[in-house]
This record gives sequence, structure tokens and C-alpha cells, in this order.
Amino acid sequence: MLPEDVIITGSAAGEAFDQLQQSVSSELTLSKDENGKVTYKKVNSGAELSKDAQQLANAIDDGSVINQIHAENSTTTSEGDLMVGEAFMGNEISIEGEHLSTVTTNQEVNPEVFGAVGEGNGSPGADMLHEVTEAYQGGLISQKKNEGSGNANAPGSAYGKAHRRATSQSGRIYERIFDASGNVMQMNTDGSYPAGVSGAEWYVKDRRGNETVVQRLGGN
Ligand SMILES: [Zn+2]
Repeated sequence: MLPEDVIITGSAAGEAFDQLQQSVSSELTLSKDENGKVTYKKVNSGAELSKDAQQLANAIDDGSVINQIHAENSTTTSEGDLMVGEAFMGNEISIEGEHLSTVTTNQEVNPEVFGAVGEGNGSPGADMLHEVTEAYQGGLISQKKNEGSGNANAPGSAYGKAHRRATSQSGRIYERIFDASGNVMQMNTDGSYPAGVSGAEWYVKDRRGNETVVQRLGGN
């Protein structure tokens, strides 16, 4: 028997689970036990799963990659860095195997932000599915190398590849920054903040250009 290896914990685990369920509702019925372990049943046992739903099923079925999804409605990661919805926190080889090692992944998500992102982009749940499958893909990459990975910003992180192999996000998140008087400022050309930034907001845009702000920080 394989263990179920998508585990959602944290104070916002319920919301995270609901969004994950939303993303695959036509194909999979998910359950979460008191330890946060997620299991699934196919809605139509005879039907072939879409690529996206299959990725989630694989993440759950694969006992050699344990995906720890930590859900808090927070704007900082557990390491104190800025977070806008999600953070790839890396993974580690948890059990050294002769042929195949077991990898434990760490992903942090903010369901409150993802709720707004998914609604604004018209694909509720898609971003939560992206995060779970990104953690899993990162685990597979590290398993193949038999070497754990640092977080998204660490040198040689599995993050970039894992992000591209994961299911699609609902859309892009844009950022706008402000000075102390509330005037919009431009980012430095290298993407860093210019001097005098006092606030920021992140938003999504639908096809008609309607904006939904999904996170705000600082005074503006
Ligand atoms: Zn990603």
C-alpha cells in the first residue's frame, strides 16, 4: 500500500484544500484526514484523467516524494521573506535509498491571496494546483539527482524547472509600488526597489483589463 503523500497543514489548510478540490472538481473528489493527508477518488472511474488532474494523482500516489504544503494567510514566508501567494522552500532527501531516495518537499501557500488571484483570473483553484504540482516536480528533480534543493532563490534550486513542469497558474501577478505620498514609482531596471518606496500592491488583470488587487503592503 502506498502512503498518501500530499499533506496540507497550517492555519489555512482548510481553504487550501478547498481550492485544490476546486481545481479538479470535475475529475477527482478529494478528502483530507486530520493529519492533512490528501486522498482522491475519480469522479468517473472509467475516464482518463486530464494531464493536470493526473499530475495531482501522481503526486498523491507517489510514496517516494512527500509533499508538505504549509498554508498560512501570511505575506512572509517562514524564513521571513516577502511572499505573494506562494513560496518554493526547497526539499531534502529524507530517506537515502539504494536505487531511489525519498524526498520531502516544502511549499508555502497563502490561500487568501490565491482566492483573489484565481477569481480575478477566472480560474479558481488553478494556483493551488500549480503549487502542489510544483512541489512534486521539484521533488522528482531532486530525487533524480539524489540531492536536495534550496528555496527558489538558492543557487542551483530545482525551482525554475519545477515551476515550468507544474500545471499552469491562473495568470500573471503584477506589482505596483508607491512613494510616501501615494504616487506610483518605477522599479529599478534590475528589478529592485528604488529609494523611497513606502508601499506596494500586487494585482491581476482579466481579459478586459479589469484589475483585482490581491495583496497590499505598506502605506498607500
Ligand atoms: Zn510556480
